[in-house]
Amino acid sequence: MQSTPETPPDFPRTKNLPNEICVTLARRLQSDTQGEILFDDASRGRYSTDASIYQITPVGVFVPRSELDIATAIAIARDLNVPILARGGGTSQCGQTVGAALIIDNTKYFNRILDCNTADRIITVEPGIVLDHLNAELKKHDLWYPVDVSTSAQATLGGMAGNNSCGSRSIAYGNMVHNVHGMSAWLSDGELVDFGPVSTLGLRGRDIAEHVHGLAKRLRTDINSNWPKVTRRVAGYNLDIFDCQSERPYTADGSVNLAHLLIGSEGTLAYTRSLTLKLSERPKATVLGIVNFPTFHSAMNSAQHIVKLGPTAVELVDRTMIELALANPSFRATVETAVIGKPAAILLVEFSGNSKEDLLLKLNQLDELMGDLGLPRMMVEMAEETAQKNLWAVRKAGLNIMMSLKGDGKPISFIEDCAVPLEHLAEYTDALTEVFAKHGSRGTWYAHASVGTLHVRPILDMRTDGAAKMRLIAEETAALVRKYKGAFSGEHGDGLCRGEWIEWQFGPAINDAFRSIKNKLDPINLFNPGKIIDPPRMDDGSLFRFAPPSAPKPYGRIPIATSLDWSEWNVQADPLTEVTTAPGTGGDETGGFAKAIEMCNNNGHCRKFDAGTMCPSYRVTRDEQHLTRGRANTLRLAISGQLGSDAFTSDAVYQAMDLCVSCKGCKRDCPTGVDMAKMKIEFLDHYKRKNGHTLKDHLVASLPDYAKTASLFPWLFNLRNTVPGAKWLSEKTLGFSAKRSLPKWRSDTFWRTKDNSMFLSAAETIVAARAGQKTAVLFVDTFNGTFESENAFAAARVLRHAGYILHTVEKDGGHYCCGRTYLATGMVKQAKAKAGALIEALYPLAKAGCAIVGLEPSCLLTLRDEALVMGLGDQAKIVAQQAMLFEEFISREIKAGRWQLALKAATKPILLHGHCHQKAFDAVQPILEVLRQIPGANPELIQSSCCGMAGSFGYEASHYDVSMQMAEVSLLPTIRSHPEAIVVADGTSCRHQIADGTAREAIHIARLLDSLLS
Ligand SMILES: Cc1cc2nc3c(=O)[nH]c(=O)nc-3n(C[C@H](O)[C@H](O)[C@H](O)COP(=O)(O)OP(=O)(O)OC[C@H]3O[C@@H](n4cnc5c(N)ncnc54)[C@H](O)[C@@H]3O)c2cc1C
Ligand code: SF4
Ligand code: SF4
Repeated sequence: MQSTPETPPDFPRTKNLPNEICVTLARRLQSDTQGEILFDDASRGRYSTDASIYQITPVGVFVPRSELDIATAIAIARDLNVPILARGGGTSQCGQTVGAALIIDNTKYFNRILDCNTADRIITVEPGIVLDHLNAELKKHDLWYPVDVSTSAQATLGGMAGNNSCGSRSIAYGNMVHNVHGMSAWLSDGELVDFGPVSTLGLRGRDIAEHVHGLAKRLRTDINSNWPKVTRRVAGYNLDIFDCQSERPYTADGSVNLAHLLIGSEGTLAYTRSLTLKLSERPKATVLGIVNFPTFHSAMNSAQHIVKLGPTAVELVDRTMIELALANPSFRATVETAVIGKPAAILLVEFSGNSKEDLLLKLNQLDELMGDLGLPRMMVEMAEETAQKNLWAVRKAGLNIMMSLKGDGKPISFIEDCAVPLEHLAEYTDALTEVFAKHGSRGTWYAHASVGTLHVRPILDMRTDGAAKMRLIAEETAALVRKYKGAFSGEHGDGLCRGEWIEWQFGPAINDAFRSIKNKLDPINLFNPGKIIDPPRMDDGSLFRFAPPSAPKPYGRIPIATSLDWSEWNVQADPLTEVTTAPGTGGDETGGFAKAIEMCNNNGHCRKFDAGTMCPSYRVTRDEQHLTRGRANTLRLAISGQLGSDAFTSDAVYQAMDLCVSCKGCKRDCPTGVDMAKMKIEFLDHYKRKNGHTLKDHLVASLPDYAKTASLFPWLFNLRNTVPGAKWLSEKTLGFSAKRSLPKWRSDTFWRTKDNSMFLSAAETIVAARAGQKTAVLFVDTFNGTFESENAFAAARVLRHAGYILHTVEKDGGHYCCGRTYLATGMVKQAKAKAGALIEALYPLAKAGCAIVGLEPSCLLTLRDEALVMGLGDQAKIVAQQAMLFEEFISREIKAGRWQLALKAATKPILLHGHCHQKAFDAVQPILEVLRQIPGANPELIQSSCCGMAGSFGYEASHYDVSMQMAEVSLLPTIRSHPEAIVVADGTSCRHQIADGTAREAIHIARLLDSLLS
């Protein structure tokens, strides 16, 4: 794969490279390596930023396939004098991975375990491996790598080493520097050097060690007086390896390890080839004591005493976060189990060890301690694992809720990880609160009270006065840090944001020594220039992602008349109260669409591979382009004119959106609620209006329109599946994959064959509902009514058996359409007409309180999602309130005590695959609840992302391979490994994918219940 430079890169703060150099670089990489070469504007744009506020366009992006590729790329870059920037997950908060360089992305191919010695608890890995992936492998050995950063699902070990990352349990296990045994890395002259214990070093390593030792000896007095004496100090280089200044020694036996010089060096000294890590035993038991505090000050003051009991974590959650969690229905119950009254703050104190009994004694000690501190009976004991897990999830989600603040002002990360000695924590936080108030902002506090590192972010608008306020707050915070002898950079690194504070922290002599270290290892300044040595000012607006008006290229948006209503995002927020203005008042020229896109803060959580849905296309391609973040960045660059004036409807954006299966996984799993499925509808609507719809688009979109006719002549319309050569022809002419059979037409549709005596008229149903009788409106969609009418009949029989009066909406002896097929093909106007007609039919019933019960998740949930942003008014809102899936309805009725249905026992195990939209709307739990109504049933939920079919996506020839790869990630293998099981899948395309991939029939839950009616 190669994409070539389109426009000369913009090189703020580095020498201006002529475009010919970039072209030569791309050409030489192409000829001399096997890697992927991404030099087009959109690719470079996607790698121009990270989880910081900064943005610099790189020279190009290189995705190496092998070590040789990297070594060759370093040689070519050195030859052409182009800087190199190594990148992992790109989740740095300070701009470490932003630069005018050749970015080398290690995550796609450079992510293997090279050697694992469980007896000695040592493992060697490539730098692109993600922490959660490593720990998943180690679990079977009861081991783990304990630097448990919050970004464990996406952070790589190479990046963690680059930043000297620290986890919640650093009080017990230390930071990266305490847990790395050795590294192998290329220097800028191309030599591959082993960094490890000084006694094992080769010639080059010894030379470097002697140089650093010499500097350390010469500067001993400065180091002793200027070096922060806290565990959490990550600024500058670790010049103190020969005279450790950290509260926690870098090595257990006090020996010196040269690998520790590279830890925290942010890719400025060498390019890591591999890391040898020290593993820890996984604790067998943990307990939590949740201490409730009447004042924030008392919580801060207690931390210094609590740590003496030897906890593995002491994490703070303040009042604001408690309130936010209580307001969230999914967290309320968990938080209620942890709080006593209305605490101003809580500390989560975790003890880990081998025996729960011993740990419970620790909780007694904690309780006694709190009594001694004047807070008797203020601790909640939490010994049960699931309860602890739930509470940790709330602690993590607190940050997510905070980050989801709408409007241009955002919680900005720049002083969020200063570390101060615990005895000063209370005074420090009091003083910092006053600083925020002085600048018209306030902070929400959370995180690592155990080591004096509290995360706090004031809300600033970087497009207006944010930079000026940032500097003032940073200066006043720095003065406090100095007063309390803390570290200004205590967790997230220096990057572009805190580089200028290194000299302030350590003084000129040590800063010169840092420069000398850089010159020793990288005299040609090849690696990540402008970080640690010669950094820019933190408030240089020209480097901001949202550059202010004073910058040479201020951030601006190209006005767009949107097809969907995005006004919910078009707001501003008050930095003090966080209250947002009314929808539509935010001053966005795109009606809020741009602001919705800008919600992506690049935290990279969409790179996760856990049980959630987000992001199926990234999971199979591992390309930044096919990631929610990559798409959001592409859209942002396009709507702000950074990819050219007409870029929003360009092929570059189309390519980024193409593999988005509109699963809505991001709507639910993204911490800031980036809803790419909705953005894809908006994009497609504009793109297709400009570039035209294909015949395939029309065939897919208007299927609900011709379904009735086609079902009259099913033999004719099924010829494509049956006549030899027809599949091939349909692939060549229409783009439907020849490897797929299309849904089979049949004449016995629901509308033609239904038993009318089962259904009352709308008027009768409304009367019954008003009289308090059990009623439901069965919304039979095109798919279940036309291709799988047995599902609709089964649902009707089940509901009737359970005593419900039924009505079904019907149009001219056929179905109403929700508009989904039109939305999928970028025809919002037509979708609006379809959904509008359906809503009009449903509205009187919904208004009378009838539940609208649907079978196909993507159709029914359109009423709760897209129908609300198509300008269909209040009627749409009333219908949305009453719209629920078959299983959601039953679950609701069970809870209300209205559901009575006798069922026979299950004779086989039940496997459940949740449709992505069910997952996005929290509608999977209700299916499990309903399945558990079956006597003897113990349903198992398949931990799967999207099935890969996603409406018409998987039928398309251009998507077939990716579609099958998505299914093969876990769905199909799990089904194959349970040959006896009944497979329940409510999505019509999911059922089709399962049939294609396993030759097994999956059924709608309605059919399973119907088959068990007694
Ligand atoms: C929401 C959020 C929460 C966070 N929580 C934590 C936390 O709990 N603790 C914490 O410490 N940090 C945290 N961070 C910061 C960040 O996630 C961590 O520093 C993480 O370890 C970075 O990993 P990465 O793979 O994304 O590295 P990147 O950001 O890609 O890179 C980090 C640095 O390492 C260098 N690098 C990467 N690979 C190599 C290589 N092969 N050779 C040389 N240099 C290399 C890069 O050049 C860069 O300077 C958080 C960030 C966010 C957005
Ligand atoms: S899309 Fe969401 S999860 Fe992905 S980087 Fe952006 S904010 Fe994070
Ligand atoms: S909708 Fe699904 S495929 Fe598209 S970006 Fe979101 S998670 Fe990824």
